[in-house]
Amino acid sequence: MDMERICPQCGASSRDTPFLASFCRNCFIQRNRIFSLPEISLLQCPKCERIRLKGEWVASDFLHAHIREKIQSKYALTHCRIQFHQPDKKHVEARIDMEFNVDGQAVAEKYSLAMPLEKKMCPDCSLRSGGYHEAVIQIRGPKEKTQKISAQLVRLIEKKTFVTKVVQQKEGVDIQVGKKRPGLEALTQLRLDATYTRKLIGEREGKRLYRTTACVRL
Ligand SMILES: [Zn+2]
Ligand SMILES: [Zn+2]
Repeated sequence: MDMERICPQCGASSRDTPFLASFCRNCFIQRNRIFSLPEISLLQCPKCERIRLKGEWVASDFLHAHIREKIQSKYALTHCRIQFHQPDKKHVEARIDMEFNVDGQAVAEKYSLAMPLEKKMCPDCSLRSGGYHEAVIQIRGPKEKTQKISAQLVRLIEKKTFVTKVVQQKEGVDIQVGKKRPGLEALTQLRLDATYTRKLIGEREGKRLYRTTACVRL
């Protein structure tokens, strides 16, 4: 037989209402902070819409995981649903539905987090808008084939760096690539052989700057 317990705060009986520790559930939740969440402010690039998290520019999809990571609790977070709204241009609101396991019972919590939003162009977009590119990949061959391969390359390259421009030439396609290395790695990934040339394009802070051209013949 269950021993009856009486909530010291409101007098409710454990026969009528569930208890958590020595309080009725309602009073327990009122008295104990189940979780805490620090303030989060957002920096977003107006061009590519990526956001800056932990010093890196990432797709805005990562915000969900980031918020979840910031939820502090001594209880296990068993469920978390976040919906985003934008009440005005300077804020993003996260409506968070959470469920915690508190002494074996599911306790639901709702929270609305207003995050100040600031817009700033990311370094990649600043470079791209200035026409910067460290490499050019020239795809040469029959039109249909060059179009198909260059589309595949652009998709791969854009996972790691920016594509400044794709130029259709009479002989094929030129892809201007922001950072050289990911551009050339994409060629290896697609097993494309290329011939390389390098051209001096200037100097910055006493260092010579080169642009690499990789020519692929299909
Ligand atoms: Zn109570
Ligand atoms: Zn950007």
